[in-house]
Amino acid sequence: MQKIDEAPYYKHANFLNQQYRLIKPLIYSRCYYNEWPLSYINRLSVMNGYSKINWLVQDELNSPIKNKISNLLAYRLAYKNGWSIPSFFLKGVRTLSANLKYINTHTLRICPLCLKLALYIRYEWMFLFSSTCLIHNVLLQDFCPDCGKQNDHVSVYHNKCECGKKITEFSLQLASEQCYLIQRVIENKKTNHKTIDKLNHINKLKIVYFIFLIISPKNIQFAEKQSITMRDNIIISERLAHTLFGGKEGFWYFLNHFIHSIDKYSKKLMPFYRQFNRCFKFDLFSEYKRYLYEFINLYWRNHIADKNTLFSKSILANHAWPSISKVKDQFKLTESLIIKATAKGFIRSETIYNEQYFMEHHKPRYYRLYYKPDIIKQLPMLQGTISFNKVCLLLGTTKRQLNSLIKNNHFNFTIAPEEAYRYLEENIIV
Ligand SMILES: [Zn+2]
Ligand SMILES: [Zn+2]
Repeated sequence: MQKIDEAPYYKHANFLNQQYRLIKPLIYSRCYYNEWPLSYINRLSVMNGYSKINWLVQDELNSPIKNKISNLLAYRLAYKNGWSIPSFFLKGVRTLSANLKYINTHTLRICPLCLKLALYIRYEWMFLFSSTCLIHNVLLQDFCPDCGKQNDHVSVYHNKCECGKKITEFSLQLASEQCYLIQRVIENKKTNHKTIDKLNHINKLKIVYFIFLIISPKNIQFAEKQSITMRDNIIISERLAHTLFGGKEGFWYFLNHFIHSIDKYSKKLMPFYRQFNRCFKFDLFSEYKRYLYEFINLYWRNHIADKNTLFSKSILANHAWPSISKVKDQFKLTESLIIKATAKGFIRSETIYNEQYFMEHHKPRYYRLYYKPDIIKQLPMLQGTISFNKVCLLLGTTKRQLNSLIKNNHFNFTIAPEEAYRYLEENIIV
């Protein structure tokens, strides 16, 4: 699981306080209503033959900006001047500009067919998980299919890759339904998913991002680059769609991924659970929460203390892996019987390494958890067992006579350690 960074974007952009302005170049046109502002400034720069876009952004003393131009600054600059501001305002452009972590920053994805209509970068391509052009239903592309070179602003605005290939002539690939669905989610468009459609744009992005951090393939060096190649993005989009649109099966896939993606999940469950509830906080997600409860109850092979306030009462009551003391209390069974039934294979159990104990006492320690559904299944038998001596009394046999009865298979069920046979009561009554 990758680190979840909640730091607001504005922290990284404190230089915004300075007064910068966009220089009106010789050749210019307005920003398109859905044009990505930073790409717009790049477009002005290429149109006018500048070598660097920083020439176009100057401070009060008319010297060009030294820092890298951020996406939010580009948005503010493009939307400030009468000559550059788009004639039509799209809320999504501002939402994305102000939320750094949902922007794909290091590669440039394009739709060749859109570029054929007009040579500019659409904001819809800039989301971290953008994979599809919803107008043409084709996959976006981040490199030249002929020479493999990554797209950049210069080649896009000149409509020519370094190898000579026209960007608008890139070969096309149809988008899968999963990519199409996720694209609709991140563009804040309807998907016929009752719950997701009711969320606002930022909350949709938040949930997609949260799931991504869990299900992304391990080899993606995402944290350093804040960028995903289209090849990885297609895999991610399919997993995202499966999680959000795959019903219970899809959501369990996601939860399973969480369990397997981390080594020491005993420590990670709490942060995950908290984060989960923060992301899926709406009542609308009660269905997903139920899946999580069911999942924890079934697969969480770890101890959950009764005093844990994070979990609901129903999780604590239904947790499938209780400790021996809990089993004793709840089912009125003796410790030796539980251990013997486990040794015989009637109850599945897991040995858990107590990491916390080791940290504190520097000695290894293990504890055992028992699978509750097995206990419930075997309960009539377990509660119906009585001791060797009691059988002798009931049947009026000597110990030797009883032993020979056992050897001749007169009892359907015995639990073995020699010194303490236990028998099913009903066998004796019959
Ligand atoms: Zn298109
Ligand atoms: Zn090329």
